[in-house]
Amino acid sequence: MPGQQIQTQNKPLMFKILKRFNRCRAAEMTLPHGPVRTPVYMPVGTKGGMKGLTSENMSELIDCDIMLSNTYHLFLKPGEDIMASMGGLHKFEHWDRNILTDSGGFQIVSLGELNSLDESGVSFKSHIDGREFKLTPERSMEIQNKIGSDIMMALDDVVPPTTTGPRVEEAMERSVRWLDRCIAAHKNTDRQNLFGIIQGGVNDDLRKRCCELMSARNLNGYAIGGLAGGEDKDDFWRTVKVCTDFLPDDKPRYVMGIGYAEDLMVCSLLGADMFDCVFATRTARFGSVFTKYGMIKLKKEQYAEDFGPLSEGCQCYTCQNYTRAYLQHTFRHDQSCLHLLSLHNVHYLIHLLRGLRQAVLDDSAEKYAQEFFRNYYREDKGGIPQWIRNAMAECKIEL
Ligand SMILES: [Zn+2]
Repeated sequence: MPGQQIQTQNKPLMFKILKRFNRCRAAEMTLPHGPVRTPVYMPVGTKGGMKGLTSENMSELIDCDIMLSNTYHLFLKPGEDIMASMGGLHKFEHWDRNILTDSGGFQIVSLGELNSLDESGVSFKSHIDGREFKLTPERSMEIQNKIGSDIMMALDDVVPPTTTGPRVEEAMERSVRWLDRCIAAHKNTDRQNLFGIIQGGVNDDLRKRCCELMSARNLNGYAIGGLAGGEDKDDFWRTVKVCTDFLPDDKPRYVMGIGYAEDLMVCSLLGADMFDCVFATRTARFGSVFTKYGMIKLKKEQYAEDFGPLSEGCQCYTCQNYTRAYLQHTFRHDQSCLHLLSLHNVHYLIHLLRGLRQAVLDDSAEKYAQEFFRNYYREDKGGIPQWIRNAMAECKIEL
């Protein structure tokens, strides 16, 4: 359906597909704080702002349309009332573009000490001071309503994708029941969007059923959760494909927690539109950076006399002004180097997908994808992995 435009307008979100390449969609999503060009990588500001990057960096140097903030961190410290009294997270962070917040559930499972989980919600101890809290669907909505994010995520029951047996189905069904409680508790339907999260592990039937159940709730967007947790890569992309097959075509689709360049490309080509991960900034702090030819560890001796940019052709501020040799030299003793590496990594992922989007609009998406994968695995002795070839076959792209 090349060129077919589809538009959904459920205030406060408008999603307009401008053009397609096979399964891939170049779209514009309009939210209360402006347009978001999709497919989009959303960088994660764990405790509010981005580590090592200011809000001005994010808008002026990186041209980021939307950032993610972790609800768990924000409500432990500084607490949602401080944000509410400042007029919401946008004002608190000095960020006037869009914000997506998670429900807090995933962070509890990964960081906090989980005490118990039952039908009412999850009880846990803060990883900061051991205080006890209970998070329910209603409480998650209350916090996210006060924070004032443009997109809020429903509280879901997350199980690792390597889980098998009846627990996977139980978690999927509970996620649907909790979604209904979130819908009932959401107070700002005129200015905040609620997305549901598809669960079901790597079981195609459960994923399909979850897509059908949640689609019937007619939300403004849907996420695919519970992936990127150590599952087989063929299970990973196949699950994304099943979900993009069964989710509504006219709504944005968000794959949660993925941040490898190859995963973003594969999922975008399969028909997903939004992604988030802390990987870009976290890995920068260890001196690992994205390049056109795969990731490199800047600490390696070979870069001491390398006067090229971090990544050939990269238009970011770091690559326009600094060499690998300088960045390696300053890496160990200068905080500003971490800032420059984070800036490059976030810019790289945002503009990798923006480039794909432009290629869809220009009818050159197949070439863009082929060049990306061939370059990215150029120095990898194994070449392009088989799982990527399998996924791309579904997208009618030969590698
Ligand atoms: Zn760069």
